[in-house]
Amino acid sequence: MLQLPIQSKLPGVGTTIFTVMSGLAGRYNAINLGQGFPDYEMSEKLMNLVAEAMHGGWNQYVPMQGYMPLRESIAEKAEFLYNTKISPDTQITITPGGTYAIYTALTTILHPEDEVIVFEPAYDSYIPNIEINGAIPVPVNLKFPGYQIDWNEVRKKISSKTKAIIINSPHNPTGSVIGERDIEELRSVVAGTNIFIISDEVYEHLVFDNIPHRSILRYPDLLERSFVCFSFGKTYNCTGWKLGYCISSSSLMVEFRKVHQFNCFCCHTPSQVALARFLKSKDEYLSLSKFVQEKRDYFSGMMKNTKFDLLTSRGSYFIGAKYDRISDEGDREFAIRITKEFGVAAIPVSSFYKNGTDNKVLRFCFCKKKETIEAAVERLARI
Ligand code: PMP
Ligand code: GLN
Repeated sequence: MLQLPIQSKLPGVGTTIFTVMSGLAGRYNAINLGQGFPDYEMSEKLMNLVAEAMHGGWNQYVPMQGYMPLRESIAEKAEFLYNTKISPDTQITITPGGTYAIYTALTTILHPEDEVIVFEPAYDSYIPNIEINGAIPVPVNLKFPGYQIDWNEVRKKISSKTKAIIINSPHNPTGSVIGERDIEELRSVVAGTNIFIISDEVYEHLVFDNIPHRSILRYPDLLERSFVCFSFGKTYNCTGWKLGYCISSSSLMVEFRKVHQFNCFCCHTPSQVALARFLKSKDEYLSLSKFVQEKRDYFSGMMKNTKFDLLTSRGSYFIGAKYDRISDEGDREFAIRITKEFGVAAIPVSSFYKNGTDNKVLRFCFCKKKETIEAAVERLARI
């Protein structure tokens, strides 16, 4: 058989840890608290709106920027939540998910040898997205165990080649969130530079304990240099929809759209038509943090019956758990073993560090039905 040589664009990369752990969970019939997705149903009303859109003939391409009424609904929501005026015409593009929005933003700005500051542990797509563009990731460790940003460390890592900083709040995998002081530090770090900001805000509606979400959309001076990325999958419990959007300044969005138009061009039409209407019901997204916070609290309360020590989570779907009272195995080895032997899958947090830093922490996903949480923790308590 002919085997053409292929020079890998991502030679250091294997299969993502999410795929690996979900695969193992399937094979060993384990409860999957690894990959981040809810196991409860999405809104029946939203499903019906999609069906209605399909039957109503909304089955052909929409403009490459996205269905205009959806962009208008997003602009209204941004004004309501973050007191900001966003132009639906020039500042919003609908994308097939948040990951794609981040990839497109990075591809829009990066040239070979550019450097990008990435906080680690980091969501797994950031570094490959940087490297595939010939650019160089510059990791900055979040301070363990609170996973806060060390701004002095950021200042030390900034160079004349720094093209961008990626921030992510609420943070995957740790559940930490940024505060007003972080915004001030960010502002002071980028002041007088040409550094772009990629702000991954896919968990904007999953902030707990009455903490406000510090969206970059609140700060017009920062938005001028930012690509802010969102995901409907997270907001509406439908991660498989892979639909999201990016908001930026009008001038940056022109370049973003140049990349986007030759990649996917436009996204699934009936879902956009449905979301344009559904987004108007504020309760649907305002109620989410309370609903998921209750799950965090339920999971945390039950985990007291185990030998895991939970870290703090203020947002997202996730919470870290130290297991050093149970084992001194590496986190990957431990995660694989408990999936096979005890039937619960989690994600080893070392997978989110380029150099594999292992603080002996697993990431658990708590956006699950009560009975799933109960069954999983019952198994974890046997370890
Ligand atoms: N960023 C982070 C931090 C995430 O956890 C996710 C979840 N997959 C995404 C981006 C991507 O969202 P989407 O599924 O819409 O691509
Ligand atoms: N965002 C989800 C997680 O962190 C899943 C992402 C994926 O499977 N690529 O678990």
